[in-house]
Amino acid sequence: MPELPEVEALKDFLTDNLVGHEIVRVLPVAISVLKTYDPPLTAVEGREVTAVHRHGKFLDLKTDGGPHFVTHLARAGWLHWKDKLPDGPPRPGKGPLALRVALETGAGFDLTEAGTQKRLAVYVVHDPQQVPGVARLGPDPLADDFDEARLAALLEGERRQIKGALRDQSLIAGVGNAYSDEILHAAKMSPFKPTSSLSPEETSRLYGALRTTLTEAIERSRGVAAGRLKAEKKSGLRVHGRTGEPCPVCADTIREVSFSDSSLQYCPTCQTGGKPLADRRLSRLLK
Ligand SMILES: [Zn+2]
Repeated sequence: MPELPEVEALKDFLTDNLVGHEIVRVLPVAISVLKTYDPPLTAVEGREVTAVHRHGKFLDLKTDGGPHFVTHLARAGWLHWKDKLPDGPPRPGKGPLALRVALETGAGFDLTEAGTQKRLAVYVVHDPQQVPGVARLGPDPLADDFDEARLAALLEGERRQIKGALRDQSLIAGVGNAYSDEILHAAKMSPFKPTSSLSPEETSRLYGALRTTLTEAIERSRGVAAGRLKAEKKSGLRVHGRTGEPCPVCADTIREVSFSDSSLQYCPTCQTGGKPLADRRLSRLLK
């Protein structure tokens, strides 16, 4: 799933490739992706893209005098840039193609979604704040005014585990399952640590890890073509998705905790005092 760094890189890429160009056609292939109907999807056709913004993990294409085209790629969605779109309309029901946007130059992009859970979403709105997921977003962790005091204030009222808090888009915008693992590894903190137990020193360490992890990921993604971002993200991750591999910091074996629809990875030596966390799935297997 694309998170803040990848969506930021897509924003840069689309700013270079879309701004100043006219959207000639928007072709929805999977109708379920469209979450709004007024204004209609066709309202962005015949309009020039004037700016591309990111709100958390949402991409926002602003059109000249017209509405915004906002999309959330969700868990299995991706954006594929094409210098030359294929001739003829895409056929519904064939493959992961969800929606195609064509420019006057013949270039454009496809939004695709793999798997059976369809969560990719497209909104056409006059104001991005009309998208419920955008309106709910907490502050952007890379904003200039997002300082240590701001993070401390956000976490102060929280009574839950730090992993869940970091992933909550209404608390902090843009961090998902992968980067929360990376941030907690960099901060040397257990994912299950209660936010209310953070000392000022730990909050400071978490803040540093949050900013550094996201900034470095953006640096790695910057200039990488849209098509290669997914591989770039994966290669830059130090613990997420690396169960069984050695920790790049201490060489301990990276462990995981599985949940019904996701899993988290961590290093016991770096993060939990050498103690493996209970994994429900593993405990069940051992019974
Ligand atoms: Zn380690």
